[in-house]
Amino acid sequence: MKMFLVALLAVMAIFVILCFVTVKSRKDNVELKRWILALLSCGIISIIIYFFVILSKTYESGLIFINLYMAMLIWFMVVMLKYTSEYTGVLKNTGMARKVAFVLYVADSCNMILNIFFKHAFDIMQVEWNGELFYDICSLKVPFFLHFALVGALECIILYMYVKKINSVPKFYKSKYAMVLVSFIVILMANIISIFNSFPVDSSIFLYGIASVAICYFSLIFIPKGLEKKTLSYLVAEMSDVVCVFDLWGKCVYQNETAKKVLKDEKFARLTYDYFSNWIENRKDKSLKEECWDDVFDYDGISVYFECRYNKIIDDNNEEIGFFFVMHDRTEEVEEFKRRHYRMAHDELTGLYRREYFYQNVEIALRDNSEKDYYLVCSDITEFKIFNELFGQERGNEVLKSIARGISHNYKKDVYGRISGDAFAWLVPAERYNENQLIQFIKEIENEFSSNLYKMRIAVGVYKIQDYSEPAYVMCDKCRMAIDSITNEYSRSVIYYDEKILEKSHNEKRIVGEFEEALKSGMFKMYLQPQATKDGKVIGAEALVRWEHPDKGIIAPNEFIPIFENTGLIWKLDYYIWEQAAIKLKEWEDEGKKDWYISVNISPDDMYHVDIYSAFTGFVKTYGIDPKMLKLEITETVFIKEKETHKILINRLRDYGFEVEMDDFGSGYSSLNMLKEIKVDVLKLDMGFLQLDEKDDETGKRSWDIINMIIGLAKVLGLKIVTEGVETQEQVTKLSEMGCNIFQGYYFSKPLRIEEFESKYDL
Ligand code: C2E
Ligand code: CA
Ligand code: CA
Repeated sequence: MKMFLVALLAVMAIFVILCFVTVKSRKDNVELKRWILALLSCGIISIIIYFFVILSKTYESGLIFINLYMAMLIWFMVVMLKYTSEYTGVLKNTGMARKVAFVLYVADSCNMILNIFFKHAFDIMQVEWNGELFYDICSLKVPFFLHFALVGALECIILYMYVKKINSVPKFYKSKYAMVLVSFIVILMANIISIFNSFPVDSSIFLYGIASVAICYFSLIFIPKGLEKKTLSYLVAEMSDVVCVFDLWGKCVYQNETAKKVLKDEKFARLTYDYFSNWIENRKDKSLKEECWDDVFDYDGISVYFECRYNKIIDDNNEEIGFFFVMHDRTEEVEEFKRRHYRMAHDELTGLYRREYFYQNVEIALRDNSEKDYYLVCSDITEFKIFNELFGQERGNEVLKSIARGISHNYKKDVYGRISGDAFAWLVPAERYNENQLIQFIKEIENEFSSNLYKMRIAVGVYKIQDYSEPAYVMCDKCRMAIDSITNEYSRSVIYYDEKILEKSHNEKRIVGEFEEALKSGMFKMYLQPQATKDGKVIGAEALVRWEHPDKGIIAPNEFIPIFENTGLIWKLDYYIWEQAAIKLKEWEDEGKKDWYISVNISPDDMYHVDIYSAFTGFVKTYGIDPKMLKLEITETVFIKEKETHKILINRLRDYGFEVEMDDFGSGYSSLNMLKEIKVDVLKLDMGFLQLDEKDDETGKRSWDIINMIIGLAKVLGLKIVTEGVETQEQVTKLSEMGCNIFQGYYFSKPLRIEEFESKYDL
């Protein structure tokens, strides 16, 4: 009998040790694993002690080992308690209670160990069982019951923890705790029974091995697996992808929730079914275990993009038992990608291609159709900035949208885009290019946005493509060159790029290149055009620049001023002319020709490069001239931009003593409005802009009416009037009758070299 029990104990010990080794090698929750290992260690120690209990031959050794076993029991319970609180999470943080408990455990251990010497708790005696002798406890006294009560209390707490946990967790988790609880209760029962029955051996010790396996398995292995499976099945059921599982014969045995929802639509279900059966039938390599691919359905005109996955289902014996499909709807994703791509490729305001994409598409179109002839067309709104200043950004945007709409309507089949702020471009095959249609289109836009205040003008450059390998931006540059070449030709809106334009552009570059040298060497000359009263008495002059070029002769300002304005050089030239005027005034003053004044031109661009106030007051101080004699001609377009700043500047100049003239009055955008806001001394009326056509009586009369009205208005406002571009005696007479008394024009004289001017008019 004893040998059988010893063998049984050995088997248990092996079980527990195996558990210990297995747990030790796992990579689990560290804290829980530690307590499981502690529990298993207690189990191993208890079993070893119990070996000696069974094998004890003398009273003394029986007494020692039984007491040790009892003392061990309390620590076993303590560890069990720790493990349980770790495992269940119940009563985890009980600071003070833990200290009190610890004192009790130590006291109880001492109680049991001292019992070896004093036998105050219990004694042992020899019992015969099945013809063999065992030692068992007897004469139980109060201290034993204290020990018993303590162990009992610990057991109750442990039981409470499990019950509480089981009650509080969802059904799904109950088994995780219930199984450990059952093993614990079984050991308890065995322990209690063995204390109170006549069987001399503690049968609970034989259950340790089994309980250890149960604890390890349920707390570390079994439950997570179950959880995993269940979670996975929930996951599949709730997945937003369509999942359909088929058996070996192609019968659908499972559909997740999404599949059920999506395939409720019969038409779609049929489409899907046909798609998959076709796919399965036409599969090239039927041995493949899994495949992934992207595809698109056309469903009632809507494209449904999806990613598909096919998997064979293989059982543990490596036999195929079915297959499943997962279908991931990528429509949103693809649409979003397309939207993003669209946003990148298209201009937000007009919806047309952005520059880079336009160029790309032009190049592709030309590459793919190299046998066709093409025209590249670029459009540009002249002085669009001024339109924006006058009518605001919103209205400006409307213009752009309107042009974009027109282009996409007229050139539906072609490549078109917005290549910069107000510039658009499109590529038209020669067979469809039609100049009249183009002009018509431009006129419509121009008319839509023109008013009394602003005359819209759209210039279009056209390039008949010669070299298809040229980058698109170079082609656009050629159109731009063509556009730039017509900025002063108000009658033409469409111009074709040709060699002349290229030459012109080269010429412009040359002019810019020669500027500095020309300025330094005094090639720019101030000419003077007299301003006179009606009977020809010269009272002053306008300074007009001429470029006396050693090779090209005298160049008129219209040929270089716009170029210098565009390249930011004009201020240097203007500053030079202003200073020449100041020097000349000083000379005249010294010579006693005091009452001749000179008016100089100020380009709008000067305002951004020169401090006008310091410059002119500087001249006055340096040359000691009277500011009244240096008059400043400013074109009214200057006042459209940054009106407030310029208004202040004009006031300061006038306060200092300069006379300010509003040049080219009537040619601009808001002449009358400007008069209301900006105070000047002189209105310079430009006859050219009123397009006097002597042959057409009707317009001629109207123009004179307008001039009459303006002169009247100037009088009311207390302004002097200078009329320029006067060519006939008749004009002088008419104008002076209307009240104008200063004239400038070919009728009196062309602009003259200074010496000529002086000798002609010197009194
Ligand atoms: P603007 O200031 O309106 O100057 C008047 C222009 O009309 C001058 O042309 C003058 O020669 C021309 N003119 C004078 N009388 C008559 C006439 O009876 N009939 C006709 N058909 N034309 C007449 P110009 O000198 O060629 O100057 C052209 C423009 O160049 C000027 O227009 C002015 O805007 C600009 N400009 C000239 N010199 C300078 C300068 O030094 N600085 C700046 N910023 N611009 C200048
Ligand atoms: Ca002028
Ligand atoms: Ca003028």
